[in-house]
Amino acid sequence: MNVLIVYAHPEPKSLNGSLKDFTVRHLERAGHTVQVSDLYAMNWKASLDANDSRERLNGERFYPSQESKHAFENGLQSEDIAREQDKLKWADAVIFQFPLWWFSMPALMKGWIERVYAYGLAYGVGEHSDARWGERYGEGKFAGKRAMLVVTTGGWESHYSARGINGPIDDLLFPIQHGVLYYPGFDVLPPFVVYRTSRVDDAKYVEVSEALGRRLDALWNDAPIAFRQQNGGAYTIPALTLRDEVAPGQVGFAAHVEARASGAADHATPLQPRETAVMSAA
Ligand SMILES: Cc1cc2nc3c(=O)[nH]c(=O)nc-3n(C[C@H](O)[C@H](O)[C@H](O)COP(=O)(O)OP(=O)(O)OC[C@H]3O[C@@H](n4cnc5c(N)ncnc54)[C@H](O)[C@@H]3O)c2cc1C
Repeated sequence: MNVLIVYAHPEPKSLNGSLKDFTVRHLERAGHTVQVSDLYAMNWKASLDANDSRERLNGERFYPSQESKHAFENGLQSEDIAREQDKLKWADAVIFQFPLWWFSMPALMKGWIERVYAYGLAYGVGEHSDARWGERYGEGKFAGKRAMLVVTTGGWESHYSARGINGPIDDLLFPIQHGVLYYPGFDVLPPFVVYRTSRVDDAKYVEVSEALGRRLDALWNDAPIAFRQQNGGAYTIPALTLRDEVAPGQVGFAAHVEARASGAADHATPLQPRETAVMSAA
């Protein structure tokens, strides 16, 4: 299988750097082909702007979506964008690895998403009708591919628990997992999160990397997060709200995940598998 790792950390000797190298070695040993987009090393341009296409549709005013569509459809995108899109098309699975910075991905990775996710590739796909609202949230150009986040946090696991001060990790990652990954069609695997990184020492590193290795071994078999498909009947169209009879009374992010019958899958909660998280020693 082909695996793309989109990776953002400025220091190769960091914990993230070690885990990224471990992932490459582990996957290659298992016979997979791996490409890494190391965004800091590539000096990736983070800002989406008028220089992202070789020829403007409108020279008077810059409309980001329109220019993205024009450039994507006509082969006018800047080369760095087109190269990353080729990697995405090539990949059977994509791993996004990053340290949690201000409760999200580093700005550089957000800039990769904004520029590489062109109109016609990641959004603006499919027809709109009474029965379908484009191909998104479970459909789209990346359908059939898998994606997984590998995230490190300074905060403790309890800080990210259901009643933790930072908010539940599933909620914090929802805009990435549901918005950035599920929207264009990826099957999204539960994240692999390393908490309380300051406590990672040699012994803990062995534990963390072994747990990560097991998740990588299960990349093709783990059940994806059971997000509800937009065009699968759970939502009214065009309002795109859950039908009254679906998860009645439930609101918030969790309402967009199907509850699984107990024992039906290897998930401890709708979003988290048993070995999602690795917490450093107290
Ligand atoms: C701008 C910014 C915003 C932040 N926002 C948040 C936030 O919102 N929420 C939050 O929880 N945290 C936040 N943090 C903390 C951040 O998430 C952590 O600092 C980060 O996840 C640590 O990852 P690292 O790769 O930089 O670890 P490193 O600092 O490189 O390493 C962590 C530990 O692992 C050890 N280690 C590294 N490699 C190995 C190895 N190969 N073998 C054994 N031990 C090893 C190191 O010695 C160190 O003790 C923020 C930090 C910054 C700079």
